[in-house]
Amino acid sequence: MTHSFTDKRKVGLTGLFSIIVGCSILLTLLISLAASYHSQRQNLVTRTLEMDYSSALKMSNTIDTLFLSMKSGLAAVAKQVENADPKHPSAAVQEQLNYFKSSNNYFNSVFWANENGKVVKVTPPNVNIEGVQLKTEPVKEALELKRPTLSVPYVGTTGRLIVLMTQPVFDAQGIYKGFIGGTIYLEESNVLNSIFGLNTIDETGSYFYIVDSTGKLLFHPDGKLLGEDAGSNTVVQKLSRGLSGKEEEVSSFGVQFMAGYAYVVQNGWGVVVQTPHSVVAQQQKEQAALMILIMILPFLVIMALTIVMARRAAAPFVALSDFAAKMASDPDKLTAPKIRNYWIREAELLRKAVTSSIGTMHERNELLNDSANKDALTGLRNRRSFDELVSSYRRTEQPFSLLILDIDRFKSVNDTYGHQAGDEVLVFLAEVLASSLRPGDYCFRFGGEEFVVVLPGTGLDSSYEAAERIRRNVEHSKSPIGRPVTVSAGCAAYPQQTSDFEMLFQLADKALYRAKENGRNRTEKAGTET
Ligand code: GH3
Ligand code: MG
Ligand code: MG
Repeated sequence: MTHSFTDKRKVGLTGLFSIIVGCSILLTLLISLAASYHSQRQNLVTRTLEMDYSSALKMSNTIDTLFLSMKSGLAAVAKQVENADPKHPSAAVQEQLNYFKSSNNYFNSVFWANENGKVVKVTPPNVNIEGVQLKTEPVKEALELKRPTLSVPYVGTTGRLIVLMTQPVFDAQGIYKGFIGGTIYLEESNVLNSIFGLNTIDETGSYFYIVDSTGKLLFHPDGKLLGEDAGSNTVVQKLSRGLSGKEEEVSSFGVQFMAGYAYVVQNGWGVVVQTPHSVVAQQQKEQAALMILIMILPFLVIMALTIVMARRAAAPFVALSDFAAKMASDPDKLTAPKIRNYWIREAELLRKAVTSSIGTMHERNELLNDSANKDALTGLRNRRSFDELVSSYRRTEQPFSLLILDIDRFKSVNDTYGHQAGDEVLVFLAEVLASSLRPGDYCFRFGGEEFVVVLPGTGLDSSYEAAERIRRNVEHSKSPIGRPVTVSAGCAAYPQQTSDFEMLFQLADKALYRAKENGRNRTEKAGTET
């Protein structure tokens, strides 16, 4: 009963401490996770934008340089053919075209068209447009303008989606002789995808695309989109205005992207590198998981320490409550609780309070016991104490003898010397009695000048001898009134003479009476008068 009570207390305190500490750690963890989440997100977005923008810039620079080379390459060819006759081109013209085409991989095809747009020579020859009159818009435009051009993506004479780049041909006299055209086959292996690669979506889902100055797609991981107009895209709109930069929220096919974009100065094209926002979320998830993983071990260690500390902290309270429970059920066996865990201030204070209140209780109890069981004048046990002893003997059937002693002619002591002197004689007698007894014997003041002595395990004859010894001690001790004080005594033995306690007392009393009758200062045994 007591134990289940204390055990419950113990678990309660330990649990409470553990819950408080556990909750505060978890709360701290959650708050720091939440706090870092936002700044982390911003960091990741900024970093991603930075990366996207810098790779867009790099690609734009690459295209810039590439475009210059392509342009000057075409110009060189134009220079080479300026003196050739477009109507009867020599084999050298074909060779020059072939040489240029094979010395680099800028164009998928290179051709010379005369001032009417008719193809003079083309490489590679299998393109099969030699002698063909070109009528597409970009060709017309090049012929009209008579200066370098770059087309939008369009479907060329051979049915391919192409971009056409041209350089005019003028002879030494400045007469226009058509143009040298170079084409990029957007849907086939070309200069762009040989530089930037074919597999352009990385594992995070980020990719790039290239648009021309009108917003048409020149390069995109999804080949079906080539030549399509991307002009509705905010980033593409900015590129067509010649801007470069970063954009945090770009919607593309219903997916949110972060984008870096760079304008290509040479030809007005633009490069967009974009990364889906889900990448950031994924990275944040991974970082949070890592953080939790890192914190789990310290958390467990702290929790274990907390439980140990809480147990130790609770121990003094457990001991004290244990003690309090014992105090309630068995108040007689009061001893201070033994607690060794003093390191908690409140526990120590509580222990001190309990210990000192136990001390006080002990003192009070002793006082109460004394006044209840002792005679105030002589300090001997009183009648109540006698009753307790005798009733315990009755229970255990302990053999004993009973002496009743009465001071002789005490009334005359009072009369002659005063009541005060009478009291002193009573104290004197008590001292003589106490010092005449053997250990284990009991002496009581029964009221007035009557005393009772209990001699455990003593028969009638021995008790007679004891009574005589006492009587002689009294007679020969120096009394406060200057003359000898004497006593008379009667003795009786239990169960030797009677097993009835009332009767035993009467027997002893009768013997005392006889002692008085027979001259006082003597002892009589009970039951010997007949
Ligand atoms: P006996 O030899 O027959 O016993 O004569 P006695 O004078 O002792 O007679 P008794 O026993 O009748 O007298 C008892 C007297 O003891 C009566 C009372 O005045 C006195 N007495 C009782 N209690 C006290 C006490 O506490 N103090 C004092 N001073 N006297 C007491
Ligand atoms: Mg008397
Ligand atoms: Mg008397």
